[in-house]
Amino acid sequence: MSALPPLLMIPGPVEISPAVAAAAARPPRGHLDPVFIESFGAALGDLRSVWLAAPGSQSFAVPGGGTLAMEAAATNLVAAGERALVISTGVFGDRMAEMLRRRGAEVEVLAAPPGAAPTAADAEAALARAVARERPFKALFATHVDTSTGVRIAPAGFARAARRHGALSAFDGVCATAGERFEMAEWEADLYFTAAQKALGLPPGLALWVAGERALEARRALPAPPPLSLDWEAWRPVMEAYEARRPAYFSTPATTLVAALAVGLAELLAEAPAAAEAMARVWSRHERAARSLRAAFRALGLAPVPVSPELEASTLSALRFPAGRGGELVAAIGARGVAVAGGLHPALAGTYFRVGHMGSVTRRPEALARTIAAIAGALAGDGSSAAREAAEAFERSWTESAPAAAAGSAR
Ligand code: PMP
Repeated sequence: MSALPPLLMIPGPVEISPAVAAAAARPPRGHLDPVFIESFGAALGDLRSVWLAAPGSQSFAVPGGGTLAMEAAATNLVAAGERALVISTGVFGDRMAEMLRRRGAEVEVLAAPPGAAPTAADAEAALARAVARERPFKALFATHVDTSTGVRIAPAGFARAARRHGALSAFDGVCATAGERFEMAEWEADLYFTAAQKALGLPPGLALWVAGERALEARRALPAPPPLSLDWEAWRPVMEAYEARRPAYFSTPATTLVAALAVGLAELLAEAPAAAEAMARVWSRHERAARSLRAAFRALGLAPVPVSPELEASTLSALRFPAGRGGELVAAIGARGVAVAGGLHPALAGTYFRVGHMGSVTRRPEALARTIAAIAGALAGDGSSAAREAAEAFERSWTESAPAAAAGSAR
């Protein structure tokens, strides 16, 4: 006999919608099945829409996770001996730098203390310095939201700075895609990659990315190809074929997950007739959930790890333990039926915990209220006045930030 799983409020995997769960529970189809071909083709087209990417870009859905998408980015964009600039706001930026070093690249890391972030002006200065020394960077890599610190950067400024100095820009959107504003074509970003299990609202198991024309050209111009299983050029004909509604084979696609992806992406894009408007609604419901939860966190005296409000992500909150509390709080919240996560950043070990608030849960205020009740109960006692005040702070902010009339029609 198995108990029901807890409400999944860690920063991925997350709660999934009933339609996605139903798709993921169906018996698997083969990769040559016409129904599968149609879902794969539709999903690839919809990825471009969710990214707000240009028509000449190529979307990819490959079995794996965010780490695989990162490694594919490192090995397809940069050759041994070339220079890369990494903007690091936590563990995942550091991971990207390590992958690029293992690739043989010469890596410069622009980092800030945990909770802070380098600015686009810092990046611009580093890029300009490199050009002045005639040792320009081939590419800039940045993490849109670093899950280890809860820090969000604004990618537009970094993408534009890279462009101005002849460098490609690649963004890790694993903890941001579909939760935070990203306009790939408008910002002239070259690569945005993610994984299925976060704000896109799927079970884990897919690495997803959209590569723009300059990024695809950079791969073709590499002096030596990347490892075969990571090679965009090995996967690209498969993606092109399915998008043209023809099957193709390089390595077996994750058919069940791809079918669920098609459902999940269609659900997002159904929020409005045009993709830009649908995504604006998706981002703003994440913003609303984050804002309302934070009103409750403030009422509970929980301080965020990010050092300023504009650095606080909409997809997760990294919260410092109050004095005298630690890891046992995470277990006490779990005992109340809500899974939250401990910290991940080694420099902050034992000082904070993390609450994910992305994907379908942002449509479910009752689930968000349950999360507040569990955290408040574990902190201050169930039914305490502090717990009541936190619940009221959440309700007030949720009500005050209701979208204007029509936006409420979101499915
Ligand atoms: N980048 C970021 C920002 C992440 O949050 C994660 C996962 N937490 C990854 C990369 C790696 O993804 P995965 O665990 O799917 O390999």
